[in-house]
Amino acid sequence: MNRPKVYFVGAGPGDPGLITRRGAQLLRRADCIIYDGLVNPAILDDCSLKAERICVRKRTGDRPFTQDQINQIIVQKARQYPCVVRLKGGDPGIFGRAAEEIQSCLKADIRYEMVPGVTAATAAAQYAGFFLTDREHSSQVIFVTGQEAPDKEQSAIDWDLLARFNGTIVFYMGMGRLDRITQTLIEKGKDAKTPAIAIQHASLPAQRLAQGSLETIAQNCCQTNLQPPAIVVIGPAAVYRKETDWFTKRPLFGKTVLITRDARGNRALAERISELGGQPIPLDAIAVVDLTDTPESKAIVPKIKQFDWVIFTSGHGIACTIDLLRKQNCDLRAFGSCQIVCIGEETARRLNDFGLRADFVPSEYVSNVLADELAHYTNLKGKKILLLRSAIAPEDLPDRLKSHGALVEQIHVYTVQPTDRQISADQDIIKLIQSSQVDWITFTSSSTVQSFLNRIGADILRQNRVKIASIGPITSRRLQENGLKIAVEARPHTTEGLIEAMVNYHD
Ligand code: SAH
Repeated sequence: MNRPKVYFVGAGPGDPGLITRRGAQLLRRADCIIYDGLVNPAILDDCSLKAERICVRKRTGDRPFTQDQINQIIVQKARQYPCVVRLKGGDPGIFGRAAEEIQSCLKADIRYEMVPGVTAATAAAQYAGFFLTDREHSSQVIFVTGQEAPDKEQSAIDWDLLARFNGTIVFYMGMGRLDRITQTLIEKGKDAKTPAIAIQHASLPAQRLAQGSLETIAQNCCQTNLQPPAIVVIGPAAVYRKETDWFTKRPLFGKTVLITRDARGNRALAERISELGGQPIPLDAIAVVDLTDTPESKAIVPKIKQFDWVIFTSGHGIACTIDLLRKQNCDLRAFGSCQIVCIGEETARRLNDFGLRADFVPSEYVSNVLADELAHYTNLKGKKILLLRSAIAPEDLPDRLKSHGALVEQIHVYTVQPTDRQISADQDIIKLIQSSQVDWITFTSSSTVQSFLNRIGADILRQNRVKIASIGPITSRRLQENGLKIAVEARPHTTEGLIEAMVNYHD
């Protein structure tokens, strides 16, 4: 039953969302992942941290591993681990050399399974706004490798057939020989005016395309410096139309956004930025440290229900409090009949995830507004209020609540700490900013600002083109104190507000 198995998984063309559910499930389970250079490393974010990762092939022209070596690695790792994933770009069965790898497994008596993927051709066409087949223009498709020289004697490719073919022809790996491919087709009698499109980095924020005809496409690719990996599509269906180009119309398309929250927050924000077409670059500037094991935290659990109001100022506060209850063998009943305030809709939603509803959410996500509006909503005189929040939160909220006559107690259920400097990652980010490749940097709290300044410094932001997006006034103040100019401030002061502010910004 438990003999090892190798899973040949298609990673899809690039966008990490285009892997199948089965593929993603196996990646999470894998002990070892052997992946190609064409695979987007972001897909590996969800793998088990314990999994060994081996990249076996770099992009065209630079091949550190021969196919034989790859076959050997697969067999060797399958003998070492119960679950090995061989992750291949696009679909493993399309120009993927999966057949050779499977032969080595069979020879070594190693079991395997296949998981197909979205191949580059279908993704490239759809992400460029057309279809490989459509009733009007094309009822047939051919996938061809562009690796074979058209003038090779005894070619495995039937060039006469391709010249006669009236459907869609897709060339994989054709960029290096595009000139000769198109010339051969014209010489064999194909209409030089047949439409053609080349699409580079299909489905990724870096997607670009060149269009033209059989006659002009090679030259147009040269002029626009279109590079591999790219798909070349030839045929009457391969026509670019602005109105069907949904992909590059997405509001953050082509924008690179540096995000500086903790790892979990960065993942959520990155997903949203990608969805809108942007390229997120995560810098895990802070780490959330749980403080639910302190005597103060433990002691508060049986007393929570004695408070009139409990206030949460962040999702982390909620998650850590729920964790604290669990560790003390308690559940949501620990809140008794206390009323609950959440500082914003996002925090209220997080509370809702745990089955609790916020009784009050202020109109603005700022401490003094919260305190004043709550005092307006209910008489705070003599009321007992419990703040379950971060150890580094400023004192203005409790002070303001006290000024309205409330009796305030606070328990620090977590804290945030700057992460260790990762010199090489920081250097990469500095280089990107200096070469004007970063459009935005986002800050979602003053602690992320501080951590960024300690690690990378303010000068780099002052001296380069990158625009700063801040979540709210406290974060902005910290930035301004360091001589930094803010391009946009979110309103409302949520991550969704932050994204909206970047989308609506015009130079
Ligand atoms: N098995 C893969 C193809 C491997 S051959 C699949 O099914 O997609 C490698 C070639 O695929 C590249 O040279 C390029 O022609 C194409 N390709 C892969 N990913 C691509 C992408 N994101 N955009 C454009 N072409 C891509």
